[in-house]
Amino acid sequence: MAIDRRKFLAKTGLALAGAGAAGCGSQPSGSAAVHTQPQITWRLTSSFPRALDTIFGAATQLAERVSALTAGRFKIIAYEAGEMVPPFQVLDAVQQGTVQMGHTASYYFKGKNPILAFDCTVPFGLTARQQNAWYYYGGGLDMMRHAFSDFGIIPFPGGNTGMQMGGWFRREISSMQDLAGLRMRIPGLGGEVMHRLGVTVQVLGGGDIFPALETGAIDATEWVGPYDDEKLGFHKVAPYYYYPGWWEPGPSLSFYVNESAWFKLPSEYQNALEVAAAEANVHMLANYDAKNPEALGRLLEQGVQMRAFSDDIMTAAQKISFELLDEFAAQDVAYDKVYQSWKKFRESSYQWFSTAEMAFSRFAFSL
Ligand code: CA
Repeated sequence: MAIDRRKFLAKTGLALAGAGAAGCGSQPSGSAAVHTQPQITWRLTSSFPRALDTIFGAATQLAERVSALTAGRFKIIAYEAGEMVPPFQVLDAVQQGTVQMGHTASYYFKGKNPILAFDCTVPFGLTARQQNAWYYYGGGLDMMRHAFSDFGIIPFPGGNTGMQMGGWFRREISSMQDLAGLRMRIPGLGGEVMHRLGVTVQVLGGGDIFPALETGAIDATEWVGPYDDEKLGFHKVAPYYYYPGWWEPGPSLSFYVNESAWFKLPSEYQNALEVAAAEANVHMLANYDAKNPEALGRLLEQGVQMRAFSDDIMTAAQKISFELLDEFAAQDVAYDKVYQSWKKFRESSYQWFSTAEMAFSRFAFSL
């Protein structure tokens, strides 16, 4: 792995690939250097609609910061999903150079390579803090960049929603028996685990979920968390709000940069982009963490019923989740290499968080 990493760093020119937040050290910077640099305009396509202001907002924030850091000479224009590129074609568009940048959730592209799911989240994976620890100091970003080099893309961590909610249910789900035959909208690996738990899984786009839930075509749906869920109005037709969203404990969003476009940038602009991405990464989670409590308060005032998934559901879901990841690993040596490293990190991180963090959370956050 050490040799791979050196090769990769030489290839991409990223001086601190494993510590992206720190920026780069030795290049001269400041306005004097920037003013001798060219005017460059890039296009960024997002997988998200502008209406999801927390998640889409990371792209506009990145663009503003890059512009400010380069005296307005490096401009990035952010387009919402579908404006230029459909939401699930962001990887293709960046790979092909249709746009220089994308902002997306890498698990959308696990069909291209299942390893890419680790760049976002997997069931019973890492929380937002653990994900950042893994990216920046646990070798995660190096491994993800290695996987993305097959697509000519350099990924940068680009925000996190934090632990998601389990979603909206029309009726109570008290035990495993209640999951049998339940019709739920839930995409990705979480959907695969739910399927193995007996759920009839449906995949619907954002706009189609509410009518399906309202008419009873589906019994349940997951989305994100209080701030985003409130906008879609699920609480009006499905009063039971379950937690946690164990399939998405810390979904990380990513900025994708076309590799050849990156190499054409002056080093000052590369630094600005790297710093702005790290800042956007911090801000999205902070934004969600500030807005979710107020949104949850408003939902509770409207009669929403909070429910935790029962221990038997959590235990069965965890067992199946680990089996699913083991199955991927058994089929693919490259996946197994990333998985073993990730799994070791997860285990040690879980152990650390089970001490002070958990004891404090249990005591102080109990209402
Ligand atoms: Ca979700």
